[in-house]
Amino acid sequence: MDEGVQADCLFCRIVSGEIPSESVYGDEVVYAFRDINPGAPTHTLIVPRRHIADVAAPEAADGELLLALVRAANEIAQQEGIAASGYRLVWNVGPDAGQSVFHLHLHLLGGRQLGWPPG
Ligand code: 5GP
Ligand code: ZN
Repeated sequence: MDEGVQADCLFCRIVSGEIPSESVYGDEVVYAFRDINPGAPTHTLIVPRRHIADVAAPEAADGELLLALVRAANEIAQQEGIAASGYRLVWNVGPDAGQSVFHLHLHLLGGRQLGWPPG
């Protein structure tokens, strides 16, 4: 599912630094930053540095990358002090889920009691 880097992709432009963001985590394959319109006291987006549209068609070779995203999310939860109180990890896929940016991103939400099921 690797699609390289797309010049017209918002999150590719954030990863490259062309569009500013508030970084919370970064390594060779993963970048994470605060959501511009937070839905909870902690709301960060964890993305692969390379462009991948969504999580709908993962291949075996993507396993390591998906694990890296989840591990980064868990590390950020520790950093943010919400590991013990709890948090939610969300992949939005397609229109009914409200996916608006088509560069794979994992939402990390926490810092308050979260309703279930989500709206
Ligand atoms: P989706 O709805 O695709 O799952 O999530 C996209 C997320 O990106 C939304 O929560 C939205 O607030 C966030 N977002 C959109 N544009 C920007 C931006 O320019 N900067 C940051 N930091 N977040 C953004
Ligand atoms: Zn992209």
